[in-house]
Formats: sequence, C-alpha cells, structure tokens
Amino acid sequence: MDSDHHRIRRRVLFGTGAVGLLGAAGFAGVAAPGASAQAVQPDIDSTDVWGARTPNGTNPVIEGSPNKLIVHHTVAVNTEDFSREQAHAHAKWVQDLHMDDNGWRDTGYNFVVSRGGWITEGTSGSLEALLSGERFIQGIHTSGQNTQALGISNEGSYHDGAEPTAAQWESLVAICAFAADQYGIASSEIYGHVDFNSTLCPGIFHDRLPQLREEVEAARG
Ligand SMILES: [Zn+2]
Repeated sequence: MDSDHHRIRRRVLFGTGAVGLLGAAGFAGVAAPGASAQAVQPDIDSTDVWGARTPNGTNPVIEGSPNKLIVHHTVAVNTEDFSREQAHAHAKWVQDLHMDDNGWRDTGYNFVVSRGGWITEGTSGSLEALLSGERFIQGIHTSGQNTQALGISNEGSYHDGAEPTAAQWESLVAICAFAADQYGIASSEIYGHVDFNSTLCPGIFHDRLPQLREEVEAARG
C-alpha cells in the first residue's frame, strides 16, 4: 500500500462510540443524524509507541485547559519519506535535539505532525492529558506561553518557500480540531510561534492561519 492510501487514519468518536477507518475524503459526512457534532479523534502515536527516551526530570502537569494552540515547524529537512517509520525517526530526532542540544527535559512540542500525516506525541504525558481534557503538560515551545498554550509542530522547514504536504495539513487540522474540542478552545485561538516570539517559525503556516482556523472550525462541526 503506498503512502497516499494510509497517510490518514482517523478513529471516529461520535456519540455512539462508533469506530471506523476512513479515508481523508470520507469523514466529513460520517456523523449519524442526530449525533452531536464533534471533531474526529485522529490517531496519535504515543511516546511509548515511537520509543521516546525517558524525560530528564518531571514534565509539569497543569490542571485545566490551555487557552490557545500554537503552531510550529521543526526545521527538519523536507523529506519525501511519508512513512510512519520516518515520523517516528523524526520524533526521535526532535527529542534528541531538544534534550541534548538545548538541554531541555524532554521534547518541547506537545505534538508533532509528520510530512506523511502521522501524528506523534511530543512532551511525554501530553496524549493522556489531551484525552482527559482536564489537564495538559507544560511543553517548551513558545517563550511566555508554555503554561497556557499547547504546542503543535510540523516536520519540515517552511520559512523558505516550501509547502506542507496535503496529508500533513489535514492531520494538522485534525489534531487542532480535536485538541480545541477536548479543551474547549475557540477555533480563533490558533496562533503561530512568531505571534509571540521573534522567530521565522512556523513559516508559511503563519500565512495560512486564517485557513487553518476556518478548516478547524468546519472539522468541529
Ligand atoms: Zn516554533
């Protein structure tokens, strides 16, 4: 099966608890009549699944919800390898960079979206916290915002003309919509790193924030 066919796998959680595997084009009309509208829960590979290192110290748990989502890019090479294996290798690369080069306790981003559309947990504990909807893990991604924002990053470098893949964009929309639903964050409260710090991050994703907010709102029903 080529990467185009398995790049998006969504676990569908509606009021009935129905579970299904759907293609990217298939999920918009899936909600049963009368089911309460809710963002689809995307598949997210936990740190256990991709084999993360043990954090250096304890990742702070913050009770309550973040008030915004902040989009980043990882400044990795813009790979054409869209496999799940590459997503895991990239997650490890980011963690090594953050722990060994930056001296941080763990991966700084709460979640990372690969160019193949695979979503990985970053800062350990972020997935369990997201599923609870009642707490989040303090990441290390945006100076001044880490105690109130969830950091979602994208594999690749987008400050120099490169474009995200369609799969990456769709998964970014999916994780943003799900996180916004879980935490009760308005779709308008999605920002880019550069909105808070002096940085080129997240490049073209910042130009596309209006589109991202619109698509996230639509994905939430
Ligand atoms: Zn950033």
